[in-house]
Order: sequence, then C-alpha cells, then structure tokens
Amino acid sequence: MRHLLKERTGQYVDSKVLKQSGWYPFFREIGSEQGTEIEIYGKKALMFGSNSYLGLTNHPYIKEQATKALEKYGSGCAGSRFLNGTIDLHVELERRLAKFLNKDGAIVFSTGFQVNLGVIPAITQKGDYIILDRLNHASIIEGSRLSGADTVMYRHNDMRSLEQKLKHIPIDAFKLIVVDGVFSMEGDIVNLPEVVRLAEKYNAVVMTDCAHAVGVLGENGRGTPSHFGLEDKVDLIGGTFSKSLASIGGFVASDSDTIDYLKHHARSLIFSASITPASAASALAALDLIESNDNMIKQLWENTYFAQDMLKNYGFDIGDTETPIIPIYIRDQHKTFALTTTPLEKGVFVNPVISPAVNPGDSLIRFSLMATHTKEQIETAINTIYSIARELDVPLQKQAVSA
Ligand code: PMP
Repeated sequence: MRHLLKERTGQYVDSKVLKQSGWYPFFREIGSEQGTEIEIYGKKALMFGSNSYLGLTNHPYIKEQATKALEKYGSGCAGSRFLNGTIDLHVELERRLAKFLNKDGAIVFSTGFQVNLGVIPAITQKGDYIILDRLNHASIIEGSRLSGADTVMYRHNDMRSLEQKLKHIPIDAFKLIVVDGVFSMEGDIVNLPEVVRLAEKYNAVVMTDCAHAVGVLGENGRGTPSHFGLEDKVDLIGGTFSKSLASIGGFVASDSDTIDYLKHHARSLIFSASITPASAASALAALDLIESNDNMIKQLWENTYFAQDMLKNYGFDIGDTETPIIPIYIRDQHKTFALTTTPLEKGVFVNPVISPAVNPGDSLIRFSLMATHTKEQIETAINTIYSIARELDVPLQKQAVSA
C-alpha cells in the first residue's frame, strides 16, 4: 500500500537542507526569561527579536500577580469561556480593556490569531466583501478564508488601490475592511485616517488589528486608533496579549451589540478553552503598569529612534518603518540566514523573515526594540550585524538620518 502521508510530507526537504548547512534559524531553544539578555544553548545573547516591546514579561509585579492567580485559581480553567471556563479575572480584564480602548465592551480570546479566526467569519457571510491590505497578518487571511464572503486585496497601505477596490463593490453590500494597526514585519503604520475616510464614503465597517500597536502607539499605548484620534471611527479593535501585554491571549473591543453577537457566534471563542488564570492576571498587571506610567513607552521610542538612526547611518535599507519593528532588508535568502545564525554565534539574537512571510525578493532581518534595552546593548547588536553584513557584501547605502 502507498504511504500517503510519507509521500506528502517526505517531499519537503528545505528544513533538512538548511540544518545540514548549519543555517537553520527556527525553533531555537531559549533557556531563560525573555529579557534584553537571554540564555540560549548555554551562552548569553542580546535579544533583538522579541515582541515584548515594553520588556514586561519578566517584570516583578507581573510575576507576582500571575503567581497569586495561579495559587488562587489553579493552572487552568478546563473549558471554554462559553461554558465553564470563565473566571472573574477574564471579566475584569474585558472591562479594563473596553475602558482602555474607549469601547463599550471587549471579549478575551485564547490567542490573537483566534480573534481573527473567530471575529471575521462571524460578522461576514456569503454575498459580503472582506477588503484586506496585501501585507496583513496571516491570521486575518485565515479568518477571511473561513468566511463565505469574497476577499479582495489592495496594495500595501496604498489608499488609491483601496479606493479602486471599494468603487467596484456594490454600495449596498456589507463590506469589512481589516487592517494591521502596525504591520508586523515592515513596521509601518496603517494610513488609518484615509482608511476611515474611504470607509465612510463607501459605507464599510473597519476593524484594526492592533497586535503591534498596543503598548507602542497612542495615548498610554492605546493603539493606532488612539494615535490618530479615531477610536470612535473604528468599529472593532483587535489585538493580543502576547506582545506588549506580556502574556498570551487576544481581545476584540467594540460596541455592546457587536460584543454580545460575537460572544454567541465566534467559533474560536466558543469552542476553545479560555486563557489560564495566570495569563489573565499577567495581562491585567501589564495594563496596570501601562496605564499608570508612560515612561516605558517613552523609553521604547527613544530606543527606536536611536536604533533607526544608527542603522540608517551604516547604510542599511530599513524600508518605511515608523516603529520599534525595524526590517533590515537583505533581499537575499542565503545572506538573511547567515545574518541570523552568525550574529547569534557572536551573542545577538535576531529573526529572519523570508518568503512566504514576505515577497521572495524582500527577505529581511526583523530587528525589534524593547523599552528595557540599553543604548550599549543596541550599539553592540548593530555593530555586530554591521560587521557581518560587510563580510557578506550586503549592499549598504548612506541615507539621511532623522533630526
Ligand atoms: N495579529 C497580528 C498582526 C500579529 O502580528 C499576530 C502575531 N504575530 C497575531 C495577530 C497573532 O497573535 P497571537 O500571537 O496572540 O496569536
């Protein structure tokens, strides 16, 4: 008999080839907290590949709150929010998120990915249109695939392209525009004022995924809608706890009818277990810290400008980033792998981003800042990357730096 599974999966050899070459850069095992300095394979390395933008995953207050929740509620909730898996901490977290995001209500999902998997197909159906930026996160694409609606893509952050698409959709059709608040690999910010203007003109619903914007942009890190003063014009604000909020889980905030509807229609919420008590307590504690003090966000931005200027000064192509996510475009897959594994040997952890996460010619090193990095750590990391890039003949071109 044919071994169907082996025939299918045995043909995939890319990872084996990379492992043989010694350049395999995925699933690396970290043996410590996710701080600015980590321990990996028994050695220390500076962490410049984390999404913990505010550096809170090892904050003593968050650990204390998580430990208390673990002691009080145990390790898990053993069910979905819908049935036996809701504890008072989930409800408190929803109340706090709604207030933070200036919306009537919020729902906590088990991950940010599940937010998009649940929300998008719940509010759209056959005959509707979902309109997406081409570089939106994979979870938005997957959520749209689960819907009966037609999906239409427009060119990245190109508002003329968005309008062209909207023009060709019947005015009475239900239209949902979903955008990343900050694009996760490129680090640029969605042109939300234009998205909102076009949504009003063509009567579309707007959802922003603020996974990388919460804790980074807007008043006390309230995300992209707050950054542009457009919270009341965005119908749904989604996001995650797995980045600035130092935990795991996701959320969506909206008006009370929409929240109630989603609680009873979002399948990834209803049929998946709720986040652990310690995860909920960690996210609540992170919100306490963010709401009470914006120094961490200021520090994050200081580090961001410092790193952006230094990279530009060395002539790296960092695209259109405006945030702590800095793509260092290498545009060559082999060199991208080399610029991931060699820095780690010299004590710097960065992430490679290759196709299909980006277009094949746009491979890049994703260099991301934390509020807790020191200037010395940033300098050491960038100097290390620069010297390896020169050895590899990565094209470098001097550019103007910001004032
Ligand atoms: N949306 C965006 C824009 C993301 O970047 C991510 C994670 N990288 C997610 C959703 C998924 O979030 P989570 O890790 O909580 O599943």
